[in-house]
Amino acid sequence: MPELPEVELARRALRRWMRGATIVRTAAWDRAVVRGALALVGRTVRDVGRRGKWLRVELDRGLVFAHLGMTGDFSARAPETPRLRWERARIDLTRGGKETSVRYVDPRRFGRIVAAREDIAPWRKLGPDLLLEGIDEAHVARVLAKRRGPIKAALLDQRIFAGVGNILANEALFRARIDPRRPSRALSLADLRALARALHAVIGKALRNGSWIRAYGHAGEPCPRCDTRLAHTIVAGRTTTFCPRCQRRSRGE
Ligand SMILES: [Zn+2]
Repeated sequence: MPELPEVELARRALRRWMRGATIVRTAAWDRAVVRGALALVGRTVRDVGRRGKWLRVELDRGLVFAHLGMTGDFSARAPETPRLRWERARIDLTRGGKETSVRYVDPRRFGRIVAAREDIAPWRKLGPDLLLEGIDEAHVARVLAKRRGPIKAALLDQRIFAGVGNILANEALFRARIDPRRPSRALSLADLRALARALHAVIGKALRNGSWIRAYGHAGEPCPRCDTRLAHTIVAGRTTTFCPRCQRRSRGE
C-alpha cells in the first residue's frame, strides 16, 4: 500500500510530467474512483503538491486531488498508448509541442481523483506533513496526553501525523524501540523525539532507495538488532510486527 514515501515519489514524477503543461484531453472510466467531471481541457498545471497521502495538482483555474488508495499508481505514456489494464483515468497534456499521457491505474479501486474549485474536506483535515513541516514534539505530546489507546493507533491518525500508514508506523516504532501497544499518553518527550527521528530516518531511507521495511511482515524471523524472534499482534485493527525484547513498554525500566 502506498505510504508517504511512495506518494512523495509519485508527486515528484507528476511534477516532472505536468508542471507548465496544458491539458488537451481527459478520460475517466470509473465513477467510484473519479469523482465529478474531469472538465479540465485548456487548463495549465502550475505545480503538484502533497500533504500526507494526498496529492494536489494546482491548475491555473481549479485543483485536482488524488489519493492512491491501496493499489493506485500514475505513469506517463505516449498519447497513442491504448487504455492500460485497470486504467481508471487519463490526463493528456502538451508542453513545448510534446504530448504526454498521464495514466492512473488502480486494480483495487480504493484510490480517488477529485477535480475541485477549492481544497476538499479530507485535505483540509490533514495534520502537519512529516516531510514538509516535521514534527513539533511538544505539540504532539499535548495532543497525545488527551488521548486514549496505543501509540500505534495515534500514529495512524492523519490529523496528527499526516502520511503515516501501517507499515511506516510499524517501522518507526521498531526503529525508535517503542512497544506499539504502549498507551500514547505514557510516551515521554524523549520517546516522541526518538519517534520523530525514526520517522524521518525511515522516510529518508525509503526516498533514497525504496527499501525500508525491516520488521513489518517478518514475524517469526530474528530481530535484525537483537536476534529475538519478532512477534505478531493486532493493534488498532492492523497487523503489527515488533520485537518483544528491544521495543520496550517503557524507557528506563
Ligand atoms: Zn530486537
